[in-house]
Amino acid sequence: MKVAVFSTKSYDKEYLDRFNTANTTQLTYFDASLNADTVILSKGHDCVCLFVNDKAHRETMAELSGNGIQLIALRCAGFNNVDLAAAVKNNIRVVRVPAYSPEAVAEHAVALILTLNRKTHKAYNRVRESNFSLEKLVGFNLYGKTAGVIGTGRIGQAFCRIMLGFGCNVIAYDSFPSGEMKKAGVLYCELDDVLRQSDIISLHCPLVPETHHLINKTAFSKMKKGVMLINSSRGAVINTPDAIDALKDEQLGYLGIDVYEQEEKLFFKDLSEKIIPDEMIGRLISFPNVLITSHQGFFTREALEQIAIISMKNISDFQNKLPLENEVKG
Ligand code: NAD
Repeated sequence: MKVAVFSTKSYDKEYLDRFNTANTTQLTYFDASLNADTVILSKGHDCVCLFVNDKAHRETMAELSGNGIQLIALRCAGFNNVDLAAAVKNNIRVVRVPAYSPEAVAEHAVALILTLNRKTHKAYNRVRESNFSLEKLVGFNLYGKTAGVIGTGRIGQAFCRIMLGFGCNVIAYDSFPSGEMKKAGVLYCELDDVLRQSDIISLHCPLVPETHHLINKTAFSKMKKGVMLINSSRGAVINTPDAIDALKDEQLGYLGIDVYEQEEKLFFKDLSEKIIPDEMIGRLISFPNVLITSHQGFFTREALEQIAIISMKNISDFQNKLPLENEVKG
C-alpha cells in the first residue's frame, strides 16, 4: 500500500514512522497541503493521508480517483475539508481518527481561558523586563461563574468535567444531551439560554452547515457584555468580522481562538519574515484581549501517538479488506 502523506511536519513523520510496523505500507511524505495544484503528487499512490487544512473538494476528488487513490486516511477528527458525496461518487473511502485525546483539546481550551483571564502571557513578559507591577493584570475567579458549552461530544464533555472542577455552573447546548454529563451536574438548555447566561462560552461542535457562522452578530447581541468566547472547534463556526465588531463595541470582553476561518494560509507555517496579506488576523492580533494559537489544541505527545496508531490501523484494515470501524460515510 503506497500512502502519500500531505502537510507533513517533523512530528507527523516521527510518529507515523514509529507506528508503521506493517512492512507492506510505504509512506511518502510531502510538505505541501493537498489542493487542486498539488493533487498531482498523489499519482502512483493508493491512499492519501490528510490533515485539517488539506482540501479534498469535488474537483480534487475526481483527480485523486484518476491518480489511483482508493482511500483518504484523515489524521484528524473533523472531516469538513472532505467532500464526502464526491468521495462516494469516485469510489474513494474515507477514514478518520474520531477520538485521539479529547482531553488534549479540552485542556488547551482551558489554557486559553486561564491565560486570557489571569494574563500570565503578559506577566511573563513583564517580569522578564524587571517590571513587577500588577497594574492592569486583574482577572476574575472562575469559581461560581457560568461556563456555557456548545457541543458536548468527546471534547465538550472533557471540557465540562474540568470546568465543573473549577466550581463553575456548567450549562450546555447539544441536540443530543449526554446522560453522563447531566449526572455530573451539567444543565442542558436552549442555545439562546447558553448565549444569554454564560460568562464564558466554549465551542466544541463540529463545522457543519448548521454551525457555519453560528456565532454571528445576532448571537453576539444576545451574550452578556464582556463575555469570554473560546473556539477550539473550527474557525468558520465564528463569523470573524462580526467578532471584530463585537470586540470593538466591548460586547465581547475576551476572545481565545485555536482555529480561524482562513487558517489554511497561515497556521502551521513560520511566516515571521513574510508580509501577511490577511487583514483580519492582523486586526485580531492587535486587540489586547485576544489570544490566538495556531491549531495546537491536539498537540500533545499522547494525542500524536494515538493519531499515528489509529491512522496506521485504519490504513492496514483497508489493505487487509477488514471492516473500517472509523469510516466516514457520505
Ligand atoms: P464529537 O463528534 O464527539 O462531538 C461533537 C458534538 O457536537 C456532538 O455531541 C454533537 O451532537 C454536537 N453538535 C453537532 N451539531 C451541533 C450544533 N449545531 N450545536 C451544538 N452541538 C452540536 O466531536 P469532538 O471529538 O468532541 O470534536 C469536536 C470538534 O472539535 C471537531 O468536530 C473538530 O472540529 C474540533 N477539533 C479541534 C481540534 C484542535 O486541535 N483544535 C482537535 C480535534 C477536534
